[in-house]
Amino acid sequence: MNQPDSNPNNQGDPKQTRKLDEKYCQSCGAIIRSSAEVCPGCGARQKGMINKTALLLITFFLGGLGAHKFYTGRNLQGILHLLFFWTGIPALVSLVEFIIYASTSSERLNEKYQAKGSALLIACIALGVGLIYMAAILAAIAIPQFIKYRERAYHAVFKSELQNFMTAEELYFLQNNKYTSDLSDLELTHKSPLVEIDIISADKNCFEARVTHAKLHKSVAIDCHSVDQIQDE
Ligand SMILES: [Zn+2]
Repeated sequence: MNQPDSNPNNQGDPKQTRKLDEKYCQSCGAIIRSSAEVCPGCGARQKGMINKTALLLITFFLGGLGAHKFYTGRNLQGILHLLFFWTGIPALVSLVEFIIYASTSSERLNEKYQAKGSALLIACIALGVGLIYMAAILAAIAIPQFIKYRERAYHAVFKSELQNFMTAEELYFLQNNKYTSDLSDLELTHKSPLVEIDIISADKNCFEARVTHAKLHKSVAIDCHSVDQIQDE
């Protein structure tokens, strides 16, 4: 644009005036049709030309993400589309714009707007942003579900470990006529590494223990009378 050649005032016939559907060639300054992508005089490709087909495609498929706004240099509106994409409103607005663009001539579109970059590149970026958006929405739904599910699994393990331990103590009592304070006496199989059992005391009358779940940050004090309490856990 800053090249002296492109200044229309220095080039061409000064008496010539531009009509509404015309423009100056960016290279030689000659008056050419506003829809011309290549100057018929000097053969220079005109920058910033709106490709109507590309505009229609990105408005229809990626308008919800504001792709057509970025293509036509209306970045602020594009950002608004991106921000409110999830409401579906930008997609509706884009559909209306699609109809407007479809019924507007290429000349008129090029008078109104200037392409600010490659439609293909903008489409790829919008698609990428759309995919990230989708992934974020899915994660927002899936992660809390997963945490809830895992929490339930932890609770189930905790309860089962408590029951196994108490059953093992009762079995030991039946065989030895006393409870044990040594966990290895109980031969607990499949013990979860997340659950820690600490036998505080044990004799021929009763036992006392503390059972802790590392991930639940939960700790329960139990003794030989705790059977009913565990059922409620
Ligand atoms: Zn030219």
